[in-house]
Amino acid sequence: MNKIFSALPTTIFEVMSSLAREKQAINLGQGFPDDPGPQDVRRIAAEAVLDGYNQYPSMMGIPELRQAIADHYRRFQGVDLNPLTEVMVTSGATEALAGAIFGAIEPGDEVVLFQPTYDAYLPLVLRAGGVPRLVALQPPQWTFTQADLAAVFSPRTRAVIFNNPLNPSGVVYEREQIELLASFCARFDAIAICDEVWEHVIFDGRRHISMLEIPSMRERTIKIGSAGKIFSLTGWKVGLVAAAPALMKVIAKSHQFLTFTTPPNLQVAVAYGLGKDEDYFTTMRASFQRSRDRFCAGLAARGFPVIPSQGTYFVNVDIGALGLDDDVAFCTQLVERFGVAAIPVSAFYAQDHVRTVVRFCFAKTDATLDAGLERLEHAVAELRKGGA
Ligand code: PMP
Ligand code: GLN
Repeated sequence: MNKIFSALPTTIFEVMSSLAREKQAINLGQGFPDDPGPQDVRRIAAEAVLDGYNQYPSMMGIPELRQAIADHYRRFQGVDLNPLTEVMVTSGATEALAGAIFGAIEPGDEVVLFQPTYDAYLPLVLRAGGVPRLVALQPPQWTFTQADLAAVFSPRTRAVIFNNPLNPSGVVYEREQIELLASFCARFDAIAICDEVWEHVIFDGRRHISMLEIPSMRERTIKIGSAGKIFSLTGWKVGLVAAAPALMKVIAKSHQFLTFTTPPNLQVAVAYGLGKDEDYFTTMRASFQRSRDRFCAGLAARGFPVIPSQGTYFVNVDIGALGLDDDVAFCTQLVERFGVAAIPVSAFYAQDHVRTVVRFCFAKTDATLDAGLERLEHAVAELRKGGA
């Protein structure tokens, strides 16, 4: 069997969710909300199954969704996309990532990645024959410098994979960092594969800046989005790609043999949802921000050193300051003995590991968060007594 996949561990999200089910733990690991998601969007999907068209939709996505995607990004990001040549619907952002990576990378091409890297990136790059060049970001800022980029970009760089807002760190990069990265892409003639699935889940009045908004990047950016995140419906797996026609043509060829298409009822519902007024997006953000604040206050009150979260469903704590030095051991004990699942951030490093950062998902009801906090307090008291 293929050596890359046979050597891979099962992804940490599945490992932790399985343990959470087995131990009946509170699952603050894998990122999914307790809230069932907007009822109007779900109703339209249900009606479309009963009364709509349920045969293969077109390979690039149904026309009304491609138009809705173009309209949505014109409204929110001021980006002009041609729905016929620059927009494609995929089965989740995960499929979009595979399509973009397989479409863009030739064996031997170098690919710049930032650690912590979302779980799918590195295996897909390796499977495409890419040679990873890794930048290790450090808490609590998780920023990169000109020197960091100069150390990994070269004339062999074909692409950079950039996740903004960044999962698991919860950072929302500002224009200065985005432009710094853009300047390296232009200098080395590299493509930016931009995973922007968290674009709407950002807090404290921030605005998401898409790489597509940077004029020098318009022709060299592959933007990836996910309706799963925009509508808090993570199981739906409806993703999207936006890219200039020359890039899109090739990514579409890759997509045609990954999934080819995506369930039509979900496409109809997402097309409707993307047209929702500003109020939906503001209310969604405010609700997650309130949960973030409640959970972070609870963590801080219990002495956890919280690394601020600017976006995503996640907040991180640095257990090093509690005298604990192994995030994997901590998370294993936490789920097995104390009934809380979390994610050890070292799982997202292939080298130069950061080993004391633990990610929690706060997109939960107050009752779930409060119960989780109580168990965490007990766990840390016990683990500090005995050493993790
Ligand atoms: N990229 C990032 C950064 C994510 O956090 C996720 C899901 N949490 C995905 C991609 C995958 O999205 P989807 O479920 O639409 O495949
Ligand atoms: N992206 C989700 C998270 O960060 C998990 C997605 C998955 O399980 N593949 O928790």
